[in-house]
Amino acid sequence: MIFPIPVNQPLLNGDEKNFLTECIDSGWISSEGPFVKQFEEQFAARVGRRYGIAVSNGSAALEVAIAALEIGQGDEVILPTFTIISCAAAIVRAGATPIVIDCDPETWNMDTRQIEQHITKNTKAIMVVHIYGFPVDMNPVMALAEKYGLHIIEDAAEVIGQTYHGRPCGSFGNVSTFSFYSNKHVTTGEGGMLVTDDAALAERCQSLRNLCFLPEQRFVHEELGWNFRMTNLQAALGVAQLKRLDELIVRKRQMGQYYSELLADVTEIQLPLPYTAYSDNIYWVYGIVLKQHVSFDAKEAMRRLAQKNIGTRPFFWPMHEQPVFQKMGLCEGISCPNAEYIARRGFYLPSGLALTKHQMEQVVLTLKEILR
Ligand SMILES: *Cc1c(COP(=O)(O)O)cnc(C)c1O
Repeated sequence: MIFPIPVNQPLLNGDEKNFLTECIDSGWISSEGPFVKQFEEQFAARVGRRYGIAVSNGSAALEVAIAALEIGQGDEVILPTFTIISCAAAIVRAGATPIVIDCDPETWNMDTRQIEQHITKNTKAIMVVHIYGFPVDMNPVMALAEKYGLHIIEDAAEVIGQTYHGRPCGSFGNVSTFSFYSNKHVTTGEGGMLVTDDAALAERCQSLRNLCFLPEQRFVHEELGWNFRMTNLQAALGVAQLKRLDELIVRKRQMGQYYSELLADVTEIQLPLPYTAYSDNIYWVYGIVLKQHVSFDAKEAMRRLAQKNIGTRPFFWPMHEQPVFQKMGLCEGISCPNAEYIARRGFYLPSGLALTKHQMEQVVLTLKEILR
């Protein structure tokens, strides 16, 4: 169904068309084209890293990250329960065990105070996922990684252009990952990236994304990789988008602040946190949570908004409540009340970069109407 006010519409009115035309005119459309290297270098530099490895999407980036760190059978990886399936899927497919942590009720990010009690002798890594444009409190996580000798995998897909205490998100992980899906701050339609400062790790990532061809004997393989290569067409979009990142972040912040202003007097909902001591929200998506006294849940609210032609998306469904993992006997007997609550009561409003002020006003008017 196409909604008159869609949940997302990207802004592609910079150099995107010119650079795509360049690809077509030059015939460089595969991953061998020059935009891929350019995008990798420029993106890595932007987040303060040495190496960037472009891949076909953000989920693939997570798979490669886990494989590059040689995480597998018998290993445990700590991650938030409130996240996208891609994070846990990469861990489970590698044969490792996901250990989930509940979220903070205000930031919706993993509650870092609950990490240490879950660390065992099998813990290999902490997978940090910044949620909806607001960073995880990284200092305590980095301290635990140091204390216990754990890897950090940082999924920064939702915080492109965001900082923590002034340092770019994506600069914290041994390896950090990004997605360039069409609703992300930088989009290539589909696409992803790994970044790292570790030359050996970068080389492993490059090999894993390209079927682990041996450099000296192309069709001989010592390890299994994937074809997760990004095309020159995608990278062309990425280079054009990246040039505008600062401008896009300013716009996102203004949009989030405008929603918060318009919704300030609505007592039925919890709004996203505007800032903490370490970050100002960039509102990747504008999430809201229905308070306890509202008589219906997010599903019903979204249904009512859809009837009025307004597109929304539900919040993530917690990993420990996923049927696929329950069938596998994972996350048995776990309860994470904060994540369970926001999964049922939370959803996000139209948040795409092409959204107009007038549309936001319409969304809020309609939301007020359905809450009445
Ligand atoms: C979007 C997203 C992904 C998945 O990226 P795809 O490119 O859609 O595969 C992974 N992690 C987070 C946190 C995301 O927001």
